[in-house]
Amino acid sequence: MTARTTSGVRVTWWGHSTVLVELDGATLLADPLLRHRTGWLRRSVPVPDACRWDRRTDAVLVSHLHHDHCDLPTLRRLRAPTVLAPAGAGAWLRSRGVDGVLELPVGSLRSVAPGVRVTAVPAYHSGRREPFGPVAQAVGHLVEGPSGTVWICGDTDLYDGMAELRALTASGRIDLALVPVWGWGPKLGPGHLDPERAARAVALSGAAHAVPVHWGTLHPWGLGRAVRVASASPGTRFATALEALPGPGLAHLLSVGGTLELPVASRRVRDRRLRDRRFRSLRGRDLKGGDLAAAVRRSL
Ligand SMILES: [Zn+2]
Repeated sequence: MTARTTSGVRVTWWGHSTVLVELDGATLLADPLLRHRTGWLRRSVPVPDACRWDRRTDAVLVSHLHHDHCDLPTLRRLRAPTVLAPAGAGAWLRSRGVDGVLELPVGSLRSVAPGVRVTAVPAYHSGRREPFGPVAQAVGHLVEGPSGTVWICGDTDLYDGMAELRALTASGRIDLALVPVWGWGPKLGPGHLDPERAARAVALSGAAHAVPVHWGTLHPWGLGRAVRVASASPGTRFATALEALPGPGLAHLLSVGGTLELPVASRRVRDRRLRDRRFRSLRGRDLKGGDLAAAVRRSL
């Protein structure tokens, strides 16, 4: 069993959007897909063994209801006490046998461990469970602790409010972005980032480090080779694009199962009272993406 981190930021990419985030003693699992297939999608990399971290996971984060992010058999199997789901998804997930579901609407936050909080932020993406399921929000998450802030982008395209996200954090900065750079097919549909647009998202956010996710894991049944040819090296394309942009962003390419560890942030929480005031003003409100920046400004 891997030791629990007590400080610092450690992320392990388990393929597609599944990332284990360990921050200041908290263990969170984003968009878990721990099976060889989901629907018509097949996995081209090994399925991780969740036993190593399942029992110590504090919360599972679900960004939206698409099958490659919200896999019901995986969610039913995991033991995390809490599943933070987007607004509109709670009743449906419970009706499908998922325990511990709490809705976290955009603009809301929840403490998941001492000193570690998760805030739901906008994502520009469809929230419908295809083809006939419910519609819920599509969100990203800011995971914040004394050691730093991780922005789990979810599935999203660019939106202007990305430049305002860092203002939601106590430190005023995002230390690490987990950013989608591709998908699972030979082409991308609307509401997605390609490698170059993903680099712009990271630059907009001001994130100091970035790990490309949402690539190199899934392919439609029977199209494995076509996908590999069409979407070759989106991770490398992302790193090259980010390097060409102004800003502090540094790309870290992980293989599936690979881990990135960042040192404790050099700048400490500058004013806990200010952070609490911001969070209070956002708590419990259901903000549309375009409203987020205005809400942040009003809360300062
Ligand atoms: Zn999606």
